[in-house]
Amino acid sequence: MCPKEEKQQQTKCSKGAYVFHIPAGTWRQHFSSLLFSADIVATAMEISLLGFLSTVAIVFPSLNVNSSMTLLEVAIYMWVLSLLRRLYMSYLEAVYCSFPQYRTQPVKEHALKEAKDIVGRDKEQLDTIIQHDRLTLISQFGLDVFIYFSVPGYYPSAQVSYPPMYQRVLQVILNHYVMSFGMYWMHRALHKNPYMWKNIHSFHHWAKHPLSRTTYQDHWLDNFGNAIVGHFFAQVLVPLDHDFFWFSRCFRVCESLEKHSGVSCWFNVVHMSQRWLPYAQMPHHHDWHHEGHKGCNYTFTSIGGLWDCIFGTRKTGRHPAVAETSRDRVHIDKTTSKFSSLMDHPVFCFLPILGLSILVVLKSFMTLNS
Ligand SMILES: [Zn+2]
Ligand SMILES: [Zn+2]
Repeated sequence: MCPKEEKQQQTKCSKGAYVFHIPAGTWRQHFSSLLFSADIVATAMEISLLGFLSTVAIVFPSLNVNSSMTLLEVAIYMWVLSLLRRLYMSYLEAVYCSFPQYRTQPVKEHALKEAKDIVGRDKEQLDTIIQHDRLTLISQFGLDVFIYFSVPGYYPSAQVSYPPMYQRVLQVILNHYVMSFGMYWMHRALHKNPYMWKNIHSFHHWAKHPLSRTTYQDHWLDNFGNAIVGHFFAQVLVPLDHDFFWFSRCFRVCESLEKHSGVSCWFNVVHMSQRWLPYAQMPHHHDWHHEGHKGCNYTFTSIGGLWDCIFGTRKTGRHPAVAETSRDRVHIDKTTSKFSSLMDHPVFCFLPILGLSILVVLKSFMTLNS
């Protein structure tokens, strides 16, 4: 695109904090994601909710729940995660703009059509997403606060002493695999159940060329369900202690953002840090998942890549050579697996989630009675 055409397109399409073009200069020209959902109203709502919770926590310390971190620490935790999302998102989008050689999809795939945003959504879809971002904000805030008051110890308080470090590390790895299991089957079910796909999960897939800003841009129920079957179930079944709870949540934020970063390389430091694990994935695997008809019924895993390999849904995306993993040349034909075909049934695909839910209920009863 010549400079004149580009300027015309910028004038026509740049509105609000989102841009409808790849910024031509350096990363300094790309601060599109500093607002929540690039939306002033959503950002004001977020600041108000977190400010309200912080004020209540300071004025009413008697609200603190036994064996949990203080309500003020929970508020600080929410502030930190919010800032981390914003800063890490900016970092990843700066990498995307500055290092085109590491992009998962070639530059020509981003050839922009009029009135579509940089990840492939049209104006109407973008407006819907912003509404759902606001609903996600409110529902997630409500869920977090509800869990704090109804599940003592869910947000673990700091302890004087801890088990040996190797035990705590194993605990966090196990917690992440349990979380990943729940999110894997929820994600697969959202694809395989036609009603859930059409009315819920397809919203996330409007982004055909994902960037980190699209990470949490889902139907609000998608985010809500994932928070329950992922983080909540895992913390009930394999509880993390105070320090590793903090670490895990920050790690997960960065991992989710990297997965949608549009680049696959050593800049994805959280993915690189777990590349030694069996069947580990890089961002290009999830990028392939977003390429719509070309691959969206593969690679459902939210963290690591274990469950995709075990349940026969791993597929490698396009990627720069520098990001290739040891298994990227192994393609599994899931149609040969009877189990896989059975689990693609629009109702049976929910059975693993049901099983996990029963375990959570049993564990909760055991904890209450002990
Ligand atoms: Zn999906
Ligand atoms: Zn995604």
